[in-house]
Amino acid sequence: MNPPRLISQKEHGIQRSAISRGARDVVQRLVESGYQAELVGGCVRDLVLGRVPKDFDVVTNATPEEVRQVFPRSRVVGRRFRIAHVRMGREIIEVSTYRAGATDSDEYSIASQSVEGRILRDNVFGAREEDVFRRDFTVNALYYDLGNDQLIDYVGGFSDLSEGVIRFIGDPSRRIEEDPVRMLRVARFRAKLDLDLSPTIEDVCREQAFLLRHVPPARLFDEVLKLFQSGHAVRSFEELEALALFPELFPEADRAYSGVDLDPASGLVAQGLANTDRRIQDGKPVIPAFLFAVLFWRPVTRSLGRSSDGRPPSLVELHKAAHGVLDRQVQRVAIPRRISSVVVEIWDMALRLLARRPRSVTRLLEHKRFRAGYDFLLLQAHSGEVPLDLATWWTVIQESSTDDRQAMIQSLGPKPGVRKRRSRPRKRRTGGQ
Ligand code: ATP
Ligand code: MG
Repeated sequence: MNPPRLISQKEHGIQRSAISRGARDVVQRLVESGYQAELVGGCVRDLVLGRVPKDFDVVTNATPEEVRQVFPRSRVVGRRFRIAHVRMGREIIEVSTYRAGATDSDEYSIASQSVEGRILRDNVFGAREEDVFRRDFTVNALYYDLGNDQLIDYVGGFSDLSEGVIRFIGDPSRRIEEDPVRMLRVARFRAKLDLDLSPTIEDVCREQAFLLRHVPPARLFDEVLKLFQSGHAVRSFEELEALALFPELFPEADRAYSGVDLDPASGLVAQGLANTDRRIQDGKPVIPAFLFAVLFWRPVTRSLGRSSDGRPPSLVELHKAAHGVLDRQVQRVAIPRRISSVVVEIWDMALRLLARRPRSVTRLLEHKRFRAGYDFLLLQAHSGEVPLDLATWWTVIQESSTDDRQAMIQSLGPKPGVRKRRSRPRKRRTGGQ
């Protein structure tokens, strides 16, 4: 093997102050205890790109137990692949041990899920020269030595970063077979970092997209959230489409979109994703349920369309269609029930807001899903699915005084077409029971 290329501080230009205090302390303490330790992965990549890393990963030749001896307050997590979580003030630094022999299997595969093409071998600790080859892309495989501020580059990651290219370490087709989730990582890093792809990656992904069917749905859920909550949801959606991955994740949504004029500027999905990106940029919280409400709305309307011939669906019809779509979808991407139930509540609320029954207005305004349902209604209005003035009515009433609210509700009058309920004589309660 060729010796690695060493890149000096002068060349890479990373300022020490850009590295978190906690990460520096962890590396320093490991080195003082006689171990080798560096920063690695996404944090080094982001530092080279002049971005703020979201967290810092440390890699070392100390085993997790040895790391614990250096940091008695650390926790060793993971069953099959143990890594240490070291707490440094408010930060948690992940410290993993160099691994070897993992080029045709690695911690990213799940042992019990062994399917064709994936050889699953026990993972063993190794040297840095081996550790580098289990990593996915050259840009994710740079080590930062804090002892001399040099980058250690075995695979040409630094020049790929300078040129802005994502390149697999080794043969793309094989690396994808080992772990198909790497295709989603291609989409995510491309969207987030605005990098190009080395030749062939796009074709290989399109050819091997079907391998995502072998990935455990719970892992796909995690990856989907990372994609759509990265602050680059619009780009991520486009990348998933370009790499033919979207139909594998969300087959029913994909079918609902195909053949429909999906105007990127005005469609509900495009607007919903753009909203999510804006909220993240502004530091506002985003809830996963809203995202799925946006992504799956079209398949739900399609399913409703068949039964409702144009009129707004009833709540019963909505729930039936919603559960149908979600039940089929979770077979691919395991959306936990605590999230999917909120997805249905959002659609339910939007439908109630659309109906605008005078007697329910006050209660709806106080409902815990009002905000999300209203946001969803706004999206529907902006994409031309429901009248804009109806959504505006809800905007105004929220900001109105109690008296004005009453006036607005009264001005709705009895709903046209809704027959007054005939008053039936009340049944006498037969007390005691
Ligand atoms: P992010 O900024 O999103 O955290 P990251 O590159 O740090 O990006 P992580 O999932 O935190 O991504 O992984 C840390 C490092 O572990 C990666 O940079 C890469 O070297 C390696 N890695 C992670 N997932 C895989 C995978 N599926 N296959 C191969 N290597 C991986
Ligand atoms: Mg990371």
